[in-house]
Parts: sequence; structure tokens; C-alpha cells
Amino acid sequence: MYIGRFAPTPSGPLHFGSIVTAVASYLDAKKNNGLWKIRIDDLDKPRIALGAERQILSRIESLGLIWDGKISYQSNESKNQQYTQALDKLNDLNITYACECSRKKILTNVLIGIDGPIYDKECLTKNLQKNKHKSIRLKVTSQNILFKDTIQGDLKQNLEKLVGDFILKRSDNVFSYQLAVVIDDYLQSVSHVIRGSDLLNSTTRQIYIGNLLGLPLLQYMHVPLACIDGKKLSKANSNKIILNNPNSLLIEALKFLNQKQCDDLKDATVNEIIKWSILNWDINRIPKKKKIEISSFN
Ligand code: GLU
Repeated sequence: MYIGRFAPTPSGPLHFGSIVTAVASYLDAKKNNGLWKIRIDDLDKPRIALGAERQILSRIESLGLIWDGKISYQSNESKNQQYTQALDKLNDLNITYACECSRKKILTNVLIGIDGPIYDKECLTKNLQKNKHKSIRLKVTSQNILFKDTIQGDLKQNLEKLVGDFILKRSDNVFSYQLAVVIDDYLQSVSHVIRGSDLLNSTTRQIYIGNLLGLPLLQYMHVPLACIDGKKLSKANSNKIILNNPNSLLIEALKFLNQKQCDDLKDATVNEIIKWSILNWDINRIPKKKKIEISSFN
């Protein structure tokens, strides 16, 4: 069964790029007679903005995107147990180690990867005790990880060369996004992940963790990122492209995804636009690009 999902971080209202992702994942799920679930990625407390979750959900509703089942929250107590169990399993495989290096120290590591400095493995041989004040790292290998992204095509990555041993749990005792997302998708029985191409580089880490835990491989599709002056949309730069009218927003999101246009839809309700868009949804039309520059809507 096709199960898709949208997993916003409630750090602020949805910007156009996140709306594009929500629309793409919803339409693809519904075109394939699947379910579309929502997860609120609220693991990292300092990033959460007051009222953002409510704003996000009402925006999704206003666009006629109806989620299936109950919303899942990373902050739910039971999730913590599931993340802990997954970490225990990885610890038992002897492929993790505790690390006491500060962020400042890691910044001095010389090799730079796709997400910043590659950890120099200083703590690998120290055999530090794993406790809640130390971060836990996962050892990576030099084996290429290959996957086929439905939109971006065949991709491969060597985690050792490009990422290094990465964090599963931080020294402030918060589980990393990379670990949490794998467990969350598994718990929601997700089969298809559609999200922005800014997360393309994280995918191999997630596949690696999933393989180690014996979880099913998911189908990934990364849609182009909406950018202004080459930069990902943010609170600071997206003010000039805010569209409050849900119909126009939907139509702009469909245009961005290069979907078929229909003049009759200009005055249609959001539900009519959604219905038409499910019928006409064609994932092959989405540009195979990592970024698309947008300026303003007319
Ligand atoms: N919560 C992440 C974000 O808002 C998305 C996570 C995911 O789709 O894997 O960027």
C-alpha cells in the first residue's frame, strides 16, 4: 500500500517551498490511491515556534489537503522509547561510539564534507562510556550507497568520504534527525517519501540506518527547492512571495511542479483544483533540478 507523508518542523509558518512539497506528496499519494499522513517534527525543542503547528495545519487544510489518520508527533513520549530501542540495537551491533568532542573542536577538523567538517574519529578508540552527556556516533563504511530517486534519478554516495561518522544522539540527549526520521517513517508505515531536495544528501544516511535496523527500503522523491537569489526560502527572504489566497497558492505550486495548467481553474474552489490535479498529476513532469529560482508571482 502506498503511504506518503508530510513532516513539517513547526519552526514557523509554511513557506512556498514547503507548500510545494506538501502538494506534491499529497497529489502523488492520492493519484496512487494511497494514504497521506502528517508528522510534526518537533524533536528539537529550541527550533519550535509558538503557534507554528496550528498555523501549518490550518494552511494545509485551507489548501484542501486532507490527511489520513492521527497526526504523529516526534515529541510523543512513546517515540522516545522507540528511538532508544533503535539506538540500543545499533549499539549492540558494535558500530557506534560515544564522543565528547565539542562543536568548536569539530569545526577545526580539516576534511570538509557535504554537511560541514568530517569528524576525525578522535573518540573512536577512546572507548568512552555512553551516557546522556555524550553524543553517540554511528561508524560509516566506504561502501557506496546507491538508490534511485524517482525525480532526480540514480544516485550514489560514499558516506566515509562525504559525511563521516555521524551523530545519532546529541550530547544534550536529543536524538538526531537522521535516526528519528527513519524510525518515524517506519512507525507510520510510510512507503514513499516526497520532500525538498535540500534533504537529498541526508537520504543515504537514512538508508544506511534503515538497512542496519533491517527496515524496508522506502521510495524517495526529491522535488526541486524554491530559491530566491540562489538561497533556500526562509522567513527572511520569503516575505515578498507570500500569497494568502489558497487558490492562487495551489496554482503557483502546480506551476512550480510543471504540472498541466487549466485556465478554467482560475476561479475554481480549492477542492475542485485538487480533484483536477489528482486526475492530471504527472510526476514525470517535475523538473529534474535541485533548485528553481522564483522571484514573485504575478
Ligand atoms: N522536518 C523536515 C523539514 O521540515 C522534513 C523531514 C523529512 O521530510 O524527512 O525540513
